[in-house]
Amino acid sequence: MLTILQIPVLTDNYIYLIHDPVSGETATVDPALAQPVLAVLDKKGWRLTYILNTHHHWDHVGGNLELKLKTGCKIIAPQSDRDRIPGIDRGVSEDDVISLGQHQARVISTPGHTSGHIVYYFAEDNALFCGDTLFVMGCGRLFEGTPEQMWNSLQKLKALPPSTRIYCTHEYTQANGRFALSVEPGNSRTRQKMLEVQQLRAENKSTVPSTIEEEIATNPFFRPDSVSIQKTLGLEGLSPLHVFTELRKRKDSF
Ligand code: ZN
Ligand code: FE
Repeated sequence: MLTILQIPVLTDNYIYLIHDPVSGETATVDPALAQPVLAVLDKKGWRLTYILNTHHHWDHVGGNLELKLKTGCKIIAPQSDRDRIPGIDRGVSEDDVISLGQHQARVISTPGHTSGHIVYYFAEDNALFCGDTLFVMGCGRLFEGTPEQMWNSLQKLKALPPSTRIYCTHEYTQANGRFALSVEPGNSRTRQKMLEVQQLRAENKSTVPSTIEEEIATNPFFRPDSVSIQKTLGLEGLSPLHVFTELRKRKDSF
């Protein structure tokens, strides 16, 4: 079994450490900073094997060069971002497979937040590292992609097994949940989840990971076919893409 650790950094970022106790290999996902990762590696006695980047934004790659220099790790990142991710050793794209000991992750291309965004899916370990594509009850802003690209990307993630754990890179859950309830006030799962989320945040605890099953039940960006959401938006009977596009637009100014 993989050991997955979550390191909260900056205002609301999470860096992940994935450790395979059998081989001793360790990866970090989206290291915004190097020092907090080095501190945990030191405490655990782990040696860093890989950095896995999901996209080029500074709060996901800021620790790349220092970590590479200090640990000798290899950097795996989107091939199409070769020119804008520091220290990249291996560029990967859709359906490439990366290994951590005997564990494997498949790369899924999810353009939308950025044009080169990818996610890492450890099928046998039921874990998805989804960067800024999918958040708990939300999704990433469209900086470099069209609503259609993002919608197609989210559809791929929605189709993963319901028990898949969602390890996203930001703690945006409370704000996302408020928006979710504003467009679907009658969703009892969302109401219940928000109570749990408020409790966790009051204790300064993480609300991540969630699961694909929970997202299908509560995340408005997974639910453009909800009649209740369509009614709120005045878009009854319109296509999921149309409803998704309007949801994303409204969330931007919520
Ligand atoms: Zn980003
Ligand atoms: Fe980010």
